[in-house]
Amino acid sequence: MELLIVGSGGAAGACLGGLLRCQPQGRRITVATASSLPIYERPILSKGYLTSDTPRLPVLLDRAALDDHGVVVHERAEVDSIDLAGRTCGLTSGVELRWDQIVIATGSDARVLPVEGHDLAGVLTLRGRRDADRLRDHLRRSTRVVIIGAGLIGLEVAAAAVSLGAEVDVVEAGPRALGRVAPPEIAHAVAALHRQRGVRIHESTSLSAILGDQVVKAVMTSSGVRLEADTVVIAVGSRPRDTIARRAGLPTDDGVLVTPALRSVAADDVFAIGDVARVVGHPFIHGPWRSESWRVAQQQGSVLAANLDGEQQTFDAIPWFWSDQYDMVLQGAGVPSAATRWITRVHSAATTICFGLNDGQLTAVSALGPLRDIGRPVSLASRAIARRLKLDIAGATDPTVALDGLLR
Ligand SMILES: Cc1cc2nc3c(=O)[nH]c(=O)nc-3n(C[C@H](O)[C@H](O)[C@H](O)COP(=O)(O)OP(=O)(O)OC[C@H]3O[C@@H](n4cnc5c(N)ncnc54)[C@H](O)[C@@H]3O)c2cc1C
Repeated sequence: MELLIVGSGGAAGACLGGLLRCQPQGRRITVATASSLPIYERPILSKGYLTSDTPRLPVLLDRAALDDHGVVVHERAEVDSIDLAGRTCGLTSGVELRWDQIVIATGSDARVLPVEGHDLAGVLTLRGRRDADRLRDHLRRSTRVVIIGAGLIGLEVAAAAVSLGAEVDVVEAGPRALGRVAPPEIAHAVAALHRQRGVRIHESTSLSAILGDQVVKAVMTSSGVRLEADTVVIAVGSRPRDTIARRAGLPTDDGVLVTPALRSVAADDVFAIGDVARVVGHPFIHGPWRSESWRVAQQQGSVLAANLDGEQQTFDAIPWFWSDQYDMVLQGAGVPSAATRWITRVHSAATTICFGLNDGQLTAVSALGPLRDIGRPVSLASRAIARRLKLDIAGATDPTVALDGLLR
């Protein structure tokens, strides 16, 4: 039995970790990945990795661990075709690999903006270790940094840049920061943390052009303002790397469509996990759903490993993410887009928790504060979302009422 895993990010790492715990006789595992080893976790790349003098990667699996288990790895090897009928897969180098089961774990790519000047030196995106090394180096030499996009990664990079002494402008096309991931109350609190440190956030403003002569000098915004810059970071979201699946004729729709067992909706021995997978039929989420979260990638990798070992697990976890914003942590769980109403609990001086409701039922939670204050409430709320709890609104907004009782 030949198992081929395409990709070596967080989802592939978690899947391999699960599989290698009890590798059965007769199964050979091959990994074909456009990256180099080791397999590491990405979240640190927009956080401490940028500011630390001695940055270290959190390694999930290194070459020795894979060699010990007889896993064959093709590094810097991009897969460009999958033949479903012939059960082969072609690398850009011309090498062909055979498979009986294939796992597509190709993640996502940073979106680029097709504006004038996007290819000037000093205009960067952030996805992998090499991008982070380049950005880290630029931030240390920069005095003026412009970030396009006030999402989680854009704001984490803003925090890193300002703490390294740069002047920072963030240009956000939407009416507010964190529009996709947090309710207004929390987004405003995060924006306030940045403004207190001198970061200028330009909302409802888009990028018109990036100016320079080989090297970036400034950006022009849609409101006609010129922002000087020696580094520009484009942080406007990501796109699933689903091209090989689409070309193979697998059903895709902004990601590879999979069942909750993470199997392609159209091919029995084809699986997809992590940022590239769009799950159809998640019990708590209406419609096909794709995540870009570290924990979801881990969970899907583990569920698939169990299923490849003969179990019948489904991925039904409540989505969860976190982000570090200076000394505060932002966490979210559930499905914010399902909430028709948000209520706010000022939990303590530094901590705000918002609950998203739909017809009284808890669908999402979003919290900002020190980790010690928000970790437990978010975890309790996440379990309550799974139980479809009808929330006691008066109690939830009253900080003197303990959440433990309300959310249990
Ligand atoms: C800078 C950064 C910070 C983040 N911070 C957070 C955070 O704070 N909290 C959070 O919850 N999430 C965070 N995330 C998101 C989280 O890291 C991702 O959701 C997770 O990495 C997804 O894992 P994955 O394995 O699906 O994809 P990836 O980790 O992107 O791995 C994809 C792999 O596929 C390979 N590949 C792609 N195409 C091919 C091909 N054709 N052939 C062969 N190999 C291919 C790539 O080289 C790579 O090895 C962050 C992401 C980034 C980039």
